[in-house]
Amino acid sequence: QARRPAQQQGPQKIPGVDRILAIASGKGGVGKSTLSANLAVALAAEGRKVGLLDADVYGPSQPRMLGVSGRPASPDGKTILPMRNHGVTMMSIGLMTREEEAVVWRGPMLMGALQQMLNQVQWGALDVLIVDLPPGTGDVQMTLAQKAELTGAVVVSTPQDIALLDARKGIDMFNKLGTPIVGMVENMSTHICSKCGHEEHVFGHGGVAAEAEKLGVPLLGEIPLDIDIRMAADGGAPLVASKPASPQAQAFRKLAKTL
Ligand code: ADP
Repeated sequence: QARRPAQQQGPQKIPGVDRILAIASGKGGVGKSTLSANLAVALAAEGRKVGLLDADVYGPSQPRMLGVSGRPASPDGKTILPMRNHGVTMMSIGLMTREEEAVVWRGPMLMGALQQMLNQVQWGALDVLIVDLPPGTGDVQMTLAQKAELTGAVVVSTPQDIALLDARKGIDMFNKLGTPIVGMVENMSTHICSKCGHEEHVFGHGGVAAEAEKLGVPLLGEIPLDIDIRMAADGGAPLVASKPASPQAQAFRKLAKTL
């Protein structure tokens, strides 16, 4: 009797990639991509071989944040060569579509694009691959957790109630998918006026720490709301690369050491 060939099932490792860390958020605009870019550069500065996969299909921002443009090469028409900048090997769904092109894809297409980025991109030997996820709890998160053997997920939130509520849903989803939660990060934690030094908690303060404690997950760090962080991200050189000695860059470096 003919046997069906064994099917590869369950999460797989990417050849040569030691750890895969997903950066997630419940809500958009809380700084997930900014954190991913700065963490990737910070980990590279620690001497680690780092890859960054921008899987934010609806708003890929890594080409702009890491200052990468152009179309990735595919010399054999099958494999894709990743791009590289600031010591980080990267690939983004944004490099496969035009920047101004709105992505209107259905689930199966998203899954196809994600699989391509996981399996066809020549990541090479990496100590860690950071995956910048889209916000929320959708197809991309589920496909990634089912197809790739994730070391864990880092969940970013602002201290605001509404963002925290969504972050909780994200953590719940990863629990259901069996992905370990590495910890939470509070972004836009506090704002220090660049003129007078006055400190304000624009989105509240300590909310993420309290939530992390309630959920029994570590709080990995707090990143301030800071104009330099935003300007560096827009300018194509994350703050950790462009102003490495600044206290804000040091906050990202400290965070990277927990991973
Ligand atoms: P997400 O990936 O969660 O949608 P982004 O990383 O794209 O969020 O951040 C949204 C906007 O906020 C960007 O313009 C980014 O530069 C800015 N931003 C993110 N984190 C900070 C921060 N700590 N301080 C100042 N601006 C920030």
